[in-house]
Amino acid sequence: MRRSKRSLEGEILIDHRSGPGLPEEVARFIGVDPKYVRAGTTYESATNTCAHCQATVVINPERTRERGWCPKCDKYLCDECTFRLARTLECRNIERVFDALDDLIAKHGDGVVENPLINPFLFQRGK
Ligand SMILES: [Zn+2]
Ligand SMILES: [Zn+2]
Repeated sequence: MRRSKRSLEGEILIDHRSGPGLPEEVARFIGVDPKYVRAGTTYESATNTCAHCQATVVINPERTRERGWCPKCDKYLCDECTFRLARTLECRNIERVFDALDDLIAKHGDGVVENPLINPFLFQRGK
């Protein structure tokens, strides 16, 4: 089944109408302009799930840079995975990784998941 790029979109609602608001550093850390999440505000935005690492990314409507995308699996990518793809040209779609792990488990049994000699993904999880 082929899904559209929008199918991995979700939504985030941050409601500070009766709360103290988010500290500026926290707002910046999650990629939201602090003016949208101070006390007395509500912030609503689309989110996207990275097809490679499953990170949920809050879509910044003011972003002017192009959003990441993998031409091999035709899915949205977070910035880190976009950077990695540019270096390695390797699609690491999480569904493919799970499929490959399923094959390994079928062949070698459950222990394979923690066996670095057989599981090629153990050493590649870091960024
Ligand atoms: Zn990612
Ligand atoms: Zn991909």
